[in-house]
Amino acid sequence: MSEFTKTAIVTGASRGIGKAIALRLAEAGMNVAVCARNEAILSTYNDSRIMPVIADVSDFNQVEELVNQVLEQFGRIDVVVNNAGITRDNLLMRMSNEEWEQVLQVNLTGTFYVCRAVIRQMLKQRYGRIVNIASVVGVAGNPGQANYAAAKAGIIGLTKSLAKEVASRQILVNAVAPGYIDTDMTQVLSEQQKQSIVNHIPLGRVGQVGDVAELVHYLVSDTNMYITGQVINVDGGLVI
Ligand code: NDP
Repeated sequence: MSEFTKTAIVTGASRGIGKAIALRLAEAGMNVAVCARNEAILSTYNDSRIMPVIADVSDFNQVEELVNQVLEQFGRIDVVVNNAGITRDNLLMRMSNEEWEQVLQVNLTGTFYVCRAVIRQMLKQRYGRIVNIASVVGVAGNPGQANYAAAKAGIIGLTKSLAKEVASRQILVNAVAPGYIDTDMTQVLSEQQKQSIVNHIPLGRVGQVGDVAELVHYLVSDTNMYITGQVINVDGGLVI
């Protein structure tokens, strides 16, 4: 562990995977700024290391404000986890322009906005760890999710490019691609759909938020000094 307390930002951290990541990083001793749009849910955190900030990642002004607040409070930004994401599923034939644009704006452009807003500080520090939450769907595609798969594939390209741009300053940038994780996002699936996905998972179960949080913690910790630009699946073997 370094001699200073690290500061992290986790987006989309009011529930699900983002919340599990935020709690894991706080447990590891980091100060963690968590953001989401819904104030009531975000303010349920009861942990002195966690600072809730209302912010919509699809709005660059709100992202800049989030980053400024974190810098004012803690003076550094060591770790960023771009986790905020939404789905608007539909077959491409029926997909509205709005469904396409919303998903790209939050999932991909939001990730770009946050990276852009923090990268100068990380370059100055000559230290940083960024993890972007992609999806196996961004690698393999999925019917009904052309918008979501395109956004997640975009995140993978962004991650690899940024990793190459900033590696010389000891900033490591990776993507984590979850498979099917038990959260509100996947609650919308019918029992039949869930069972059919589980039938294709070699480890024979759905993933839990902790499965993702442990990997993210490893990637942003100082135990990881040599992994950058990678996409690591956490999917029980769904996509091999
Ligand atoms: P949830 O729907 O449970 O949580 C999404 C979180 O993102 C919430 O905290 C939500 O809060 C926040 N959020 C949504 N839009 C915005 C926005 N514009 N600005 C800021 N925060 C926002 O999702 P999961 O926990 O399941 O997913 C987390 C990430 O993991 C997503 O990127 C998702 O695509 C990815 N993923 C999930 C998988 C799964 O099986 N669950 C599989 C593969 C990838 P609020 O609505 O209050 O803003």
